[in-house]
Amino acid sequence: KSQDWRLGVGVMTAAEAVAMAEQVVADLREKCETPPALLREVASAMAHEMGAGLEKEGGSRVKMLLSYVDKLPTGREEGSFYGLDLGGTNFRVLRVQLGGNEKHVINRESREVSIPPQLMSGSSSELFGFIASELAKFVADEEKCANISNGKKRELGFTFSFPVKQRSVASGTLVKWTKAFAIDDAVGEDVVAELQTAMEKQGLDMHVAALINDAVGTLAGARYYDKDVVAGVIFGTGTNAAYVEKANAIAKWEGELPNSGDMVINMEWGNFCSSHLPVTEYDQELDEESLNPGEQIYEKLMSGMYLGEIVRRVLLKISLDSSLFGNIDHTKLKTHFLLRTPHISAMHHDETPDLKIVAEKLEENLEITGTSLETRKLVVEICDIVARRAARLAAAGLAGILKKLGRDCNAQEQQSVIAVDGGLFEHYTKFRECLESTLGELLGEEASKSVAVKHADDGSGIGAALIAASQSQYRNVE
Ligand code: BGC
Ligand code: MG
Repeated sequence: KSQDWRLGVGVMTAAEAVAMAEQVVADLREKCETPPALLREVASAMAHEMGAGLEKEGGSRVKMLLSYVDKLPTGREEGSFYGLDLGGTNFRVLRVQLGGNEKHVINRESREVSIPPQLMSGSSSELFGFIASELAKFVADEEKCANISNGKKRELGFTFSFPVKQRSVASGTLVKWTKAFAIDDAVGEDVVAELQTAMEKQGLDMHVAALINDAVGTLAGARYYDKDVVAGVIFGTGTNAAYVEKANAIAKWEGELPNSGDMVINMEWGNFCSSHLPVTEYDQELDEESLNPGEQIYEKLMSGMYLGEIVRRVLLKISLDSSLFGNIDHTKLKTHFLLRTPHISAMHHDETPDLKIVAEKLEENLEITGTSLETRKLVVEICDIVARRAARLAAAGLAGILKKLGRDCNAQEQQSVIAVDGGLFEHYTKFRECLESTLGELLGEEASKSVAVKHADDGSGIGAALIAASQSQYRNVE
């Protein structure tokens, strides 16, 4: 009854093809295992690297960058402020009106555009030119409606979601690109100066009051509403975390200590690496063929840019080894990043009895047709293995931060809220559920009572405007 497919050598029956594919999946499952003991090692390694990164410049792959944000928003900020958010696949411009006196945001407007892919690997002036022109359009449209500026210079917070070595809250040089960006001539340059130049060319009179990372923005945006927020974390195209550190615990800091005694640290945890991380041959190849080989290893195991790509690599291996998908044209299946994380999420959450959505996604994206239910179940399992590993490693990272803060054992008086943003967390339900349950597993029942993970919607965009607001307020007072 079983159909025969002629391979290069010999003949494989459909049953043999399934058995072979199952072997590949079993092997993957084993290599991606994340038992609690391993995750505890990862959490300890993360806490350790955090210390090493604070100790001295270059002390760790986890850079622990100073944000120069020493005060988080309080709720008393007042006035109109702009935000720019650049970092993933979309770019956003926004304006918020802050009511002061705990009235919070009384009005907000934003516009989102996707970044033309060619700009991600072009020149610095092209990218910043594009950003400034979108900002100029936004401002021009708003001027048509009302005169919002009141003659005062407009203040802008710029969320730039890449590692930046800051020298002040409103300046900093790009350390390296991550994710899908690779614009060589911008590395080492001051991104605020680049933006300022581009804005001048557009005739835009705006002052960049703050340059922040999206993880810092998420922390700031969430803290604005909730005093118990201790960290801001992104699970999106890329991944990162920021938290509030005691300034006197930052040995590498040479400047004057701020009055508040605090400093927000942009961890850049995406670059974390440890021998405890379960890395497979698929991950190794993905890394070698990536825009940034050897970098962002933790990120490549768990962020939205890569999960679909890992699954694609496993499917390709299966197809080439077993011809489980029949005699297909491999052009699509061989195309890097063609299978995206939203696709694997849709397949993973498919609840139709015959896995209709899996069939659809395989067909639409990879030109794989006529799969059996058994094959589709195997595909779901691959998604499950890859997404669960990601979520469990993500939880270990959070446990690492809590450990560093001394909030990982016993129930504490003080609640610890971790504010999370990013499309992966927001839209990939099974990722989020697994992350939350794993964190509970790692902390144990007692410590879990005082820890909460909360979705901070649009933290990063608003956060930049808020930090711009608090900066300009202090400037006016001083
Ligand atoms: C970047 C971080 C950023 C994160 C989330 C990473 O690739 O290095 O700066 O916060 O992505 O956007
Ligand atoms: Mg969001």
